[in-house]
Amino acid sequence: MTAHTFGHSTVAKPTGHDASGWHKFTCGHCGRDVSGAIIAAVNRREGGFIYWLQCSACHDASVLADDQNYYPGLAYGPVIEGLPDDVSAAYKEARQCLSVNANTASEGMCRKILMHIAVDKGANEREPFAAYIDFLEHEGYVTPPMKEWVVLIKDHGNEANHKLPASDRQRAEGTLQFTAQLLRTVYEMGFLSKKFAKPKTS
Ligand SMILES: [Zn+2]
Repeated sequence: MTAHTFGHSTVAKPTGHDASGWHKFTCGHCGRDVSGAIIAAVNRREGGFIYWLQCSACHDASVLADDQNYYPGLAYGPVIEGLPDDVSAAYKEARQCLSVNANTASEGMCRKILMHIAVDKGANEREPFAAYIDFLEHEGYVTPPMKEWVVLIKDHGNEANHKLPASDRQRAEGTLQFTAQLLRTVYEMGFLSKKFAKPKTS
């Protein structure tokens, strides 16, 4: 099995004791600029190299492939902390869609995030989409100055899902930024404020 032998004979496993064991890159999982640990490296006989990397911040895995792209690629938009798991997964998907120019899919996911948020906060899962925004407004998660752009998340998502033309890049980026801002307001600020909460003295 020569192919087998070839596979492992070209793999180097740096120890991390010198610079050859580390590689600076922007992590596609957490978005941070890190010096990642090179877990394994291959110098290909055809030329070029492949790195299997571990992020020193979030510890997740990436590959610098032979085409010199990182996998996963850097997702578009900000990392938001303090999200419930299903909201976090949906938001991650919306961001990853934009990393591969899947603009229509990203807008569809952003619309779906409205539903995730509303249901997480107690809305009935079988409501029409307009009802989710009404619910979030009624419960105080969407305030009057926010309404205009929150409605755009729904409208752009509707067009992406129900009309034939593909979503335009610029609009899809805007839809994602509105979604990020809503997630910040509903989840991240409360999450961050808990870090500053003083222990009760009474
Ligand atoms: Zn990372």
